[in-house]
Amino acid sequence: MRAILLALLTATPAAAQDAVTVIHAGRLIARADRPAQGPSTVVVRNGRIERVSTGLQPPPPGAKLIDLSRMTVLPGLIDAHVHLASDRAGNEGLLSGVTESTALHAYEAQMNATKTLRAGFTTVRNLGDGAAGVTLALRDAIARGWTQGPRIVDAGEAISTTSGHMDGRLGLNMEAGDALAHTANLCDGVEECRKAVRRQVGRGADVIKIATTAGVNSVIAAGLGQQMFDDEAKAVVETARLYGKKVAVHAHGASGIALALRAGADSIEHGTLLGDEEVALFRKSGAYYVPTLSTVNGYKARLAADPNAYPPSVREKIEWRIGITGKALERAVKGGVRIAFGTDAGVSKHGRNADEFELMVAHGMTPATALAAATLNAADLLGLSKDIGSVEAGKAADLIAVAGDPLTDVTVLKSVAFVMKGGVPVAGVD
Ligand SMILES: [Zn+2]
Repeated sequence: MRAILLALLTATPAAAQDAVTVIHAGRLIARADRPAQGPSTVVVRNGRIERVSTGLQPPPPGAKLIDLSRMTVLPGLIDAHVHLASDRAGNEGLLSGVTESTALHAYEAQMNATKTLRAGFTTVRNLGDGAAGVTLALRDAIARGWTQGPRIVDAGEAISTTSGHMDGRLGLNMEAGDALAHTANLCDGVEECRKAVRRQVGRGADVIKIATTAGVNSVIAAGLGQQMFDDEAKAVVETARLYGKKVAVHAHGASGIALALRAGADSIEHGTLLGDEEVALFRKSGAYYVPTLSTVNGYKARLAADPNAYPPSVREKIEWRIGITGKALERAVKGGVRIAFGTDAGVSKHGRNADEFELMVAHGMTPATALAAATLNAADLLGLSKDIGSVEAGKAADLIAVAGDPLTDVTVLKSVAFVMKGGVPVAGVD
């Protein structure tokens, strides 16, 4: 017994516990709010950045050298709005929800997580998936090192009112809807909304997601306006605060955005119809706006493949969204609203997250502010600024490399050549 213990102890040499990797960067964007630096050396010890120095410094004896001296190195990217469980939306998505097993959906989520990580997104905020908790489990499996994927900040199941955006019965007939009824994520009135939040907290949600207005993809012809009352949204935010959780709010119509901001929302997702009053509320509260412009890419691709991919009630809303998307971001940028990067991947394809940068720049942002939205700002919104969002001593060694300069051409971010998460290079990046 003693011999076995000794063998086990000596099988873990000190070097393995103190792994040092040195990265030579041709150009380094340590923080998106500062100019890029020239050739730089990043020393990584045990998964964290130990120091960053100018010039290409020789690695200490025994350290592993990663040569990115022909590349631009920058912080790992953060997508603050994804749905990892699937990107099969429309009729296909509805059918898969009632014909395929939860186990199959778990594998699908894992595949999507891998695609996302290989695209350079080392952290995501997952804003709602099915009742089974597939992405909550995936978050934990990734954290344990059982499988590959980005760090996940997960909302569990998203909360809405009855017949609201997250009522899973929409699109099914009354008999099917009632038979399959899963309504624990629905709340009407203050007491129920408090309870719905507590349920998600109990399941292990990191953040609470609600909808104060209707949604484009929910199968109901009832506009995109406000669907939650002030006291309900307030009850959600106050309850989340008891547990130290932030609240992300899906909202399209102006009054739904305004009531969420007044209730204390930490971010508004989509924000399609935000006006001057809402811009003022954003600035007053300091909440982030998450534009999710990529949804339009998803809609266009799916409709090109199949004009009947969506039911008529959804199709009408999609056409409206395609026409208007981007205008709210232009208004937000002019008004000085804080922006965090988020795609709504799941509506668009997983692994194509970086397409959002191009759309952000087309609608008023500079490459530097778009990159800040996907690093410094998203890290702040997720409450993870101490760990991620920049390449600085003390932070997790989450970094990526691209050929070219993303501060002049954001499209280079679509072709990530190297990804490291927590000090470990990610395999399969091309
Ligand atoms: Zn979403």
